[in-house]
Amino acid sequence: MIIDLHAHTASRSNCSRTTLEELVETARARGLDALCITEHDVRWPADELADASRLLDFPLIPGVELTTDVGHVLAFGELRKPLWMGYTLAELVEECEESDSALVLPHPLRRFAGERAIKGGRVPPTAAEIVALPQWVVVHAIEAVSTQTTALEHALTAAALAEHPRPSVGASDAHGPGRAGTYATEVDGPIKTAEDLARALRAGHVKPVLP
Ligand SMILES: [Zn+2]
Ligand SMILES: [Zn+2]
Repeated sequence: MIIDLHAHTASRSNCSRTTLEELVETARARGLDALCITEHDVRWPADELADASRLLDFPLIPGVELTTDVGHVLAFGELRKPLWMGYTLAELVEECEESDSALVLPHPLRRFAGERAIKGGRVPPTAAEIVALPQWVVVHAIEAVSTQTTALEHALTAAALAEHPRPSVGASDAHGPGRAGTYATEVDGPIKTAEDLARALRAGHVKPVLP
């Protein structure tokens, strides 16, 4: 199955300029099999997302993009702590050990080699420095490409993945119209729920799909 693991709607992420209907329309036009909705620090109520999925006749999988001490982390599956209390990476990893939820590291180098970091004079990290980051090792997969990352970030991530192989995914991180499914992930199916997706991520049965 081809799934976009990372997208934001304007109704629940104030950085987004697009709607759920538009994301689904674009994902469907690109031939995707499912779309994950991953707002910042808030989840869609499960029944509301299920209703939307029925109404739009397209598989929607719930996830969330959490703000942690190491930056953003995507989570799929059960989370026990109320999201408004916030998570550190260590807390997330500890919970996921027990809950079988899965973690994906989005835009892994934004802080180190993103546009703002480079403009600020930051020297891009080496592959050895990247793979030594705690978040590189403890998540279940690395987001290797998205529409919110630069060619430099993609190249550095690829170099780090070559040095220290980890499961990797592609995702649009769509914040605007026409973006859903630009990058996506091939996942061993069938994937119907966040739990199915978490299982595939934990098993490493994923790979990025490029445009
Ligand atoms: Zn993010
Ligand atoms: Zn995002």
